[in-house]
Amino acid sequence: MSAIPVVPDAAGRFGRYGGRYVPETLIPALDQVVAAYRAAQTDPAFQAELHRLLTRYVGRPTPLTKATRLSQRLKRRIWLKREDLCHTGAHKINNALGQALLTLRLGKKRVIAETGAGQHGVATATACALLGLQCRVYMGVEDMRRQAPNVFRMKLLGTEVVGVESGTKTLKDAVNEALRDWVTNVTDTHYIIGSALGPHPYPMMVRDFQSVIGREARAQVLEAEGRLPHACVACVGGGSNAIGLFHPFLNDADVRLIGVEAGGNGSGLGQHAARFDGGSFGVFQGMSSYVLQNADGQVVGTHSVSAGLDYASIGPEHAWLRDRGRAEYRRASDAQALAGVHLLAENEGIIPALESAHAIGVLPEIVADLPDDAVVVVNVSGRGDKDVAEIARLEGVKL
Ligand SMILES: *Cc1c(COP(=O)(O)O)cnc(C)c1O
Repeated sequence: MSAIPVVPDAAGRFGRYGGRYVPETLIPALDQVVAAYRAAQTDPAFQAELHRLLTRYVGRPTPLTKATRLSQRLKRRIWLKREDLCHTGAHKINNALGQALLTLRLGKKRVIAETGAGQHGVATATACALLGLQCRVYMGVEDMRRQAPNVFRMKLLGTEVVGVESGTKTLKDAVNEALRDWVTNVTDTHYIIGSALGPHPYPMMVRDFQSVIGREARAQVLEAEGRLPHACVACVGGGSNAIGLFHPFLNDADVRLIGVEAGGNGSGLGQHAARFDGGSFGVFQGMSSYVLQNADGQVVGTHSVSAGLDYASIGPEHAWLRDRGRAEYRRASDAQALAGVHLLAENEGIIPALESAHAIGVLPEIVADLPDDAVVVVNVSGRGDKDVAEIARLEGVKL
């Protein structure tokens, strides 16, 4: 396979995907973010400060743990990239800290963010408390009800949580409200988007901040196995933990890159969040990509057992990698995700987040077409503590 070209282009396009579909008033702000981000990328002081926070505060590098008993069961060599061990319990802090530092560089004092389950909200609230930034998080009131502990966590961290009453009162409505705030307050406010999606430069910038996952994993697996893996596996919501793992391996043509979407509880529209298996080309929340929509182009509701994978579109770079055949995507059902929780908990003593459990639960299928003793790196994007009550409820256990 020929070398993968550098994307996105200056307009933020990954082939036909990405770009900017936002109100005219936001274009100068997005251009300002591009310029500040480009300067930060080549500024040794910015990079040193980010590195200091990632090591001394987040706890990086996260380990690459050999899953010994799971490896015996699956007859492959399974390695776990342990983003569950990051401060705040998931990979989201890598991006939140990077963008919070960028906010200081932009000379802005106020941060806004959207959150679904509350994981990105907590990570952003954490970064803002650490760096002394004012923070407001938009969250659908339906999500606030389902994720009350995360709402309280954000408040403990000094963040204002604003409930969104419009639409289905969930993540997409929170994004719309955050964009509205940004249009009004763009002079003193930076919007920290939580995944590798939205208008340019977010898909690129979030990918870069999360690529620390893949850079570490690549060096760690080379050190441990003396070779590159046969495959890298990660769950895909908006796509940030997956693109962060995949990106440093893109030009290693022999490494299969496998993303796992939420298969929910059926294949009908509305029953899942598998954008590549039921979605089509469309424009949604500032970008073009695959979107779960009906014949009239109306975005449809989605379902997943994990709030973090429950979104109607997917980061544009994934769409581009899939079209090129460089990455492949499959789905794991709610039931497979729950099986994945048990598989990792009982064999390795690690309770994964329900999102990450999608990547674990589908491993028995994935290894079926890999050679015996194949080396596989799986991203454990977060820990499952946040999901314990929900897992119990789903399994009919009364706590
Ligand atoms: C938010 C979240 C995800 C999904 O987001 P991506 O941007 O696709 O990574 C996955 N795992 C965990 C633990 C999360 O909190």
